[in-house]
Order: sequence, then structure tokens, then C-alpha cells
Amino acid sequence: MADTLTPAQRSKCMAAIRCKDTKPEKLARSIVHGLGLRFRLHAPALPGKPDLVFHSRRAVVFVHGCYWHQHGCKRGRSTPVVNAAFWRKKRAANKARDAAQRRELRLLGWRVLVVWECQARDPVALRARLGNFLGAMNPQWARPARTRPRRTWKRRPLAQSPRRKRT
Ligand SMILES: [Zn+2]
Repeated sequence: MADTLTPAQRSKCMAAIRCKDTKPEKLARSIVHGLGLRFRLHAPALPGKPDLVFHSRRAVVFVHGCYWHQHGCKRGRSTPVVNAAFWRKKRAANKARDAAQRRELRLLGWRVLVVWECQARDPVALRARLGNFLGAMNPQWARPARTRPRRTWKRRPLAQSPRRKRT
């Protein structure tokens, strides 16, 4: 697919993609809020300015956009047609910086969780993930139990095919 924008327009468009207060981030915040946990937003003193900071639990959460932070999902692996090399380099640099910041945080004694944009499509799973990480898991927040019994497979007796007589 050809890019319908000029390089200058594309650059402007790419720059307009906001990094803060995205929809997944708001969802993560509201889930954590629902878990009854208190947090700080964007602590500037910490490496990478984690999106959510839980001081008492010594834990931080990053909410990453799949595209900019090169998640392994479909969106994270997509590449723009125009200026592909430039954007690839930029995103690779983002990814390397993310890893360095996570390392730094861990060295400072913080536990780090990355929540990906695409995971926000499943709020139930995201809630379980956040709850587990923050040690606030309660059975009632977990994924609802299966209502249908798991199907069991019985071994079928081998079909008795009538042997043909050799002639
Ligand atoms: Zn993703």
C-alpha cells in the first residue's frame, strides 16, 4: 500500500501520535483503581518515567503502545512504507531504551510490568495480570470460571473393518 501523505505530512502525523493518557493507559488506571490500590502517575524521578508507580509495593507499570515500542504483535511488527529505514531505526532505539530503563529500575529494586496496548482489548485478562503483579489478586477479580464442563474425549474402539478375504 502506497503512503498517501508526503514525507512532511507523514512526519507530522507520526509526531501527533500521543504518548500520554492513551486509552489503554486510562483503562489500566481504572482497573488498578478498582483493585483499590493507590499509585502515582509518571514519577519523573524514576528511569523512563513509569506510567504508574506503586511506592509501597516497590512496583511500576509501563503502558506501551505496540507500534512505538515494537511489541511482538501484528501492530508492533508493522512498518510504514515511506521512510521505512528512518522509522525502523527510531523504533529500534525506543525498544533498546525501554530495556535499559527496565534494567535500571530493577537494579534500583523496583519490580516492572509492561502492559501492551493490544492487551487492553481484553480488560478481564488485563485485570488479572495487573492484580497478579501487584499482589492484589482476589478470586472474584479473576477470569470467570468456565461454565461449561470441559469436554472429555473417550478413546473410541478401533473400527472393526471387515477383513477382506484374499482371493
Ligand atoms: Zn501489541
